[in-house]
Amino acid sequence: SIPLGYFGGIGLASKNGILFKGGNFLDVMTKINTVVMDKTGTLTKGVFKVQEVKTNNYNEKDFIKLTAAIESKSTHPIALAVTEFAGPVLDGVTIKDVEEIAGHGLKGIIDGKEVLAGNTKLLKKFNISYDNAIDNIVETIVVVAIDKVYAGYITIADEIKEDAKQAIEDLHQLNIETVMLSGDKQSVVNSVAKFLSIDKAFGDLLPEHKVEKVQALKDLGRQIAFIGDGVNDAPVVALADAGIAMGGLGSDATIETADIVIQNDQPSKIVAAIKIGKLTRNIVW
Ligand code: ADP
Ligand code: MG
Repeated sequence: SIPLGYFGGIGLASKNGILFKGGNFLDVMTKINTVVMDKTGTLTKGVFKVQEVKTNNYNEKDFIKLTAAIESKSTHPIALAVTEFAGPVLDGVTIKDVEEIAGHGLKGIIDGKEVLAGNTKLLKKFNISYDNAIDNIVETIVVVAIDKVYAGYITIADEIKEDAKQAIEDLHQLNIETVMLSGDKQSVVNSVAKFLSIDKAFGDLLPEHKVEKVQALKDLGRQIAFIGDGVNDAPVVALADAGIAMGGLGSDATIETADIVIQNDQPSKIVAAIKIGKLTRNIVW
């Protein structure tokens, strides 16, 4: 039988918008010494807005139309920002063979042209050279190649969640190490990590790389809570000692796999979950 204290803990958590899928995870949370987090949608709002369009000797209107056309086939938050920005420009455009390449972006045929839209890893994958200065841009970007030639990029901004900085500070107060893992570019990841004072941050990661990083920490004997939102985060959520999903923006697969779900997507709820775990342990013992 489950001690009464666990029911109290689960109830208290639930009143705070934190869903524990079992009393045992209250205990697990008291032992966590490393909190690993995804960036987009977890520490940032995951709601992107287009900032500027920079073409490389390509007609800007056509560039936007071709990019928006391929992005219209994706549900990625970046894709939504681009299609919203472009507006109703897709009438009469033919869109064929669009393929989503995980962690990279999209490939397809738009109005007979081969279009690639994604990150620089995508261009490297197809051996397309680009202006290397874009590696240093401290913003998320969509890089575009048209008929195998680099055609320009679109910068996209996301905002850090209001309570993220305090949450990291509170975790450090509890002697918990903080780690951020992201598929976004390293320059963006570094700037977010610096602003939030996160201990360690890794960017340019494919979903399988996130799993490797968490496994390496587990091998060191760390007790890990991982918190993420994307479909890509489900395997890491499953691997962590405590897998936590953002319940609002989160993908169904990740919410399903998680041990704990944060309903309103606030990172400060990780701290609350640890505190409720500790409170419950004190009552149970
Ligand atoms: P994360 O949630 O950590 O950003 P993703 O795997 O969803 O991880 O995306 C990794 C990177 O792949 C993105 O930051 C972006 O650069 C690129 N990407 C993925 N899908 C798209 C898309 N539809 N359009 C443009 N870029 C994309
Ligand atoms: Mg994400």
